[in-house]
Amino acid sequence: MRYAVISDIHANLEAFQVVLKDIETLCPDAIICLGDIVGYYPNPNECVEFCREHNISCIRGNHDDAAVGFLDTEDFNPVAKEALHWTSWQLKKENKKWLANLPEHLIFGETLLAVHGSPWHPYAYIFSEQEASKAFIHLESHFSQINVCFFGHTHQRAFYYTSKGTVTEPIKGYKYILGPQGLYLINPGSIGQPRDGIPGAYYVIYDSLTRELEFRRLEYDFRLTQEKTRAAGLPAMLAERLALGF
Ligand code: ZN
Repeated sequence: MRYAVISDIHANLEAFQVVLKDIETLCPDAIICLGDIVGYYPNPNECVEFCREHNISCIRGNHDDAAVGFLDTEDFNPVAKEALHWTSWQLKKENKKWLANLPEHLIFGETLLAVHGSPWHPYAYIFSEQEASKAFIHLESHFSQINVCFFGHTHQRAFYYTSKGTVTEPIKGYKYILGPQGLYLINPGSIGQPRDGIPGAYYVIYDSLTRELEFRRLEYDFRLTQEKTRAAGLPAMLAERLALGF
């Protein structure tokens, strides 16, 4: 099976459209979305409807949870909180219902796990080898059949593996072949608001048969998203950071 794995769209329609177009040319068997479909940018309904129309297997992220009322917006910083109130107001009832019914995690082909933040909690972050180590220990005890876990939430590309108790984060290249042994933790990066310092839209293609993994970065017209963000009255800082890739 070939999978396209996407994450953290955050209602950025321009970035999402460019990624979907690229995915269509690669014809994967399935598209997996690791949550945070909405929050921050001005097209929450369109992005939810794109996920529904393209039959994308989605899970809920913390912004999705807050937008549908599962999580208190007090848990967010003031900018995110303001954007979430706007998002919750904009979202159609049917799209809220669809988001609310998404699962917290998904398993594909018995060996692939999709989570938003981490395998032990959907809102926890994996930023370091130490946190990756905690995730591997949790996977071994709670998801013993899993050998590849995709996660999002940090908006940064990441690739960790563990074998015989040591955790390694290789140099962040773009193409890898996963070994037959060991456990892997992979973050495709974010479509809507990458935080790697380079503007663009990020995602991953993974072939579970050949074990080939490819990180992809696409350019899109973020100036249009900036204009729309400002016109919607969303916090200006959300528009500015798109040009910085942070
Ligand atoms: Zn996010």
